[in-house]
Amino acid sequence: EAPVVLVSACLLGEACRYDGRSQRSERVLAALEGKAVVPICPEVASGLPIPRPPVDLRGGTGVDVWAGQARAVEREARTDRTEDFQRGAQLALEAARRFDVTVALLKEKSPSCGSQRVYESGVLRSGEGITTALLRAEDITVVSDEEL
Ligand code: SF4
Repeated sequence: EAPVVLVSACLLGEACRYDGRSQRSERVLAALEGKAVVPICPEVASGLPIPRPPVDLRGGTGVDVWAGQARAVEREARTDRTEDFQRGAQLALEAARRFDVTVALLKEKSPSCGSQRVYESGVLRSGEGITTALLRAEDITVVSDEEL
């Protein structure tokens, strides 16, 4: 049986990005053709609005957030959104478990969904987002739209 794939909702055309836009990707849609898909936007699932202020990781990347050594902070107002982002990640994990997901296809460079590169304090660096770090800790394979 083909694996069920957890997918960043913005890649499927949901206008759930912080700026109110989608990140619809024909490449992603083509790669997923015929596959069972579970769409998730961790940030919106957590209750954050659309649009919402952009958030940067500070002090490290997603793994460091779970270790209590980094935070997710709004770029301008510096409001701390760490707990919202962690709640969103937990909801993504719950969705993955409910549907026996073993692989996720998530949007690169997002502080939640990034899997190879994320912004830390406004600078793009290697690392993963808060949702990706949690999924990987639970043995779910995470790949990005940029790897397709
Ligand atoms: Fe939501 Fe992830 Fe897309 Fe950001 S990258 S809009 S958190 S699904």
